[in-house]
Amino acid sequence: MLLTITTTATPATDLGFLLHKHPDRVQEFRQSFGTATVFYPEASEDRCTVALLLEVDPVALVRSSGKNSPDFSLSQYVNDRPYAASSLMAVTLADVFRTARAGRCNAKPELPGTPLPLVITLVCRGGADLARGVFEPLGWDVEAEAVPLDESFPEWGESRYVRLTLRGTLRLSEALNQLYVLLPVLDDAKHYWVAPDEVDKLLRAGEGWLREHPMRGVIARRYLGRRWALARSALARLAELGDETEEQLEPAVAEEAAPDETAADEAVAAETEEALAAEEASAAPVKARPLNVLRREAVLATLEELGASSVIDLGCGQGELVGALLAKPRYTQVTGVDVSPLALTIAARKLRLERMPDSKRARLTLFQGALTYTDKRFAGYDAAVLMEVIEHVDPPRLPALERVVFGTARPQHVLVTTPNVEYNVRYEFLTGMRHRDHRFEWTRAEFAAWCARVCEQYGYSVAVKAVGEEDPEVGPSTQMGVFTRD
Ligand code: SAH
Repeated sequence: MLLTITTTATPATDLGFLLHKHPDRVQEFRQSFGTATVFYPEASEDRCTVALLLEVDPVALVRSSGKNSPDFSLSQYVNDRPYAASSLMAVTLADVFRTARAGRCNAKPELPGTPLPLVITLVCRGGADLARGVFEPLGWDVEAEAVPLDESFPEWGESRYVRLTLRGTLRLSEALNQLYVLLPVLDDAKHYWVAPDEVDKLLRAGEGWLREHPMRGVIARRYLGRRWALARSALARLAELGDETEEQLEPAVAEEAAPDETAADEAVAAETEEALAAEEASAAPVKARPLNVLRREAVLATLEELGASSVIDLGCGQGELVGALLAKPRYTQVTGVDVSPLALTIAARKLRLERMPDSKRARLTLFQGALTYTDKRFAGYDAAVLMEVIEHVDPPRLPALERVVFGTARPQHVLVTTPNVEYNVRYEFLTGMRHRDHRFEWTRAEFAAWCARVCEQYGYSVAVKAVGEEDPEVGPSTQMGVFTRD
C-alpha cells in the first residue's frame, strides 16, 4: 500500500518540516498490523514528494484484531489489505503524521496555515465515481484510472481498484484529515470494530469540511462501518452543532479525568461551541449560523441588556462563553464553573490562561464545582448562566440544582437555555435525544411550567425567549428563560 504526497511550493522541502520527517532519512514505524516506512523519493527546492509505504502483515493483522474483530473468516488471511489504501492506511497516516494532521509545526509556525499545491496518489477501492463524489466538493481535481484486472489480459476487464491522483491547493492538515476520513469511506470496510467514539473522531477530523459536504450522509455511514445508529448520531450532531473544533485531547490530559466524569466530559466534547465556528459563520453569511453560536450571542445580548457586570457561567464546559465575556471590558468579574476537571483543563488552555495579561487574569475565576451542592462561591454575581446544562442533570436532582442556584446563590438574574424537544422533528437524521448524555428534553410547555414553578418557589419573574429562528409550527430550536429576582 503506497500513498504519496507531492508539493511544488517553494521551498518544497518545507514538506519535511510540516510532516516532522526529515527528507534525507528513511524512517520505519511499527504498527500492530505491519510496518510503515516514510521516505522521500524526491526532495528539491521546487518539488518534494513524501511516500508512505505500508506493508501489511496479514498474520499480524489477524492477531491484532483479536476478539473485537467483526469477522473471523478466512478472508482475513486472504484479502486485498496489502494492496488497496484502506482504514489501515488511514490509521497509519494518523499515527505517523499526527502532528501535521493537528496543524502544528514549531519550527515554522506559519506553515500549517498556508495552503500548498499538493498532488496525492494512491490506489483504492470504491470506484471512480465515488472517489470524484467525495473529493471534488472539497476542491480536489480528481483523476481516477481503473486498474485492469490483469494487464496481460485486457479482455478480463477492470478490477475494482482505481489509481487516484488528487490535485489541489489545501493546507496539509486539511488534506490529511480528509484522507483519514475518506480512505475508509472508499474502502467501506473498517479493519477494526467501530466503537461509538468513532463518531467523535469523525467529527473532529471532519471539522471545517464535512458539515457542508453534499455526500456527508454517505461518508458518515461508510466511515462508521454502516452502523446506522452511529451515523445518525453523527449527522444529527453535525446539524445541531456546526463544526466542532475542540482540540485533540492530549492523552495525558484525557487520563486526568476520573471514570465517573466521563459522561460529563463527553457532553463537553459534544456540546461546546468554538470561537472558530463563530468566525467562520460571520465570514460566510450564506452559511447557516450554527446553533451554538446563536445561543451564545443570545446570552451575551441578554446579559448586556440586563446591565450585568459580574457573571458566573455554571456548567461552563470548555469556556467559550467565559472567553467571550472576558473580551468585553464591561464584565469586571467572570467566573466559570464545571463539574468536569477535563472541561476546565481545556477551558484554561483555550483561554490561554498562562499567557493571559494580569489585568485580564484578575477578572477571571475558574473552579470545579457541582451545581447540585450548595457552594458559597456561587454567590455574589449580578447574573448566573446555565447554558445547555439542566438537561444533563437527572430529574430527581433538579430540585437540588434549583435550590442551589435560585435559593442560595440567588443572583439578580439567571439565564437558562435548554433544547426545545418539539424542534427535533426538524433534524432529518435525529432519532432520540440530541445528545446521549441528555437526561430529558422539554417541550415549550414543559419548560414554561418549570420556569413558572421555580419563580413561584424562589421569588423570581421570568421571560421566556426563543433562540434562533422560530419555526411557525414547532417553535425555536433552543429556548431561554430569563429570570429576574423580585
Ligand atoms: N455551557 C456550555 C457547556 C454545555 S455541556 C456550553 O453551552 O457550551 C453541559 C456542561 O454541564 C458540561 O460541561 C458538564 O460537565 C456540565 N455539568 C453537567 N452536570 C453538572 C453539574 N451537576 N454541575 C456542574 N456542571 C455540570
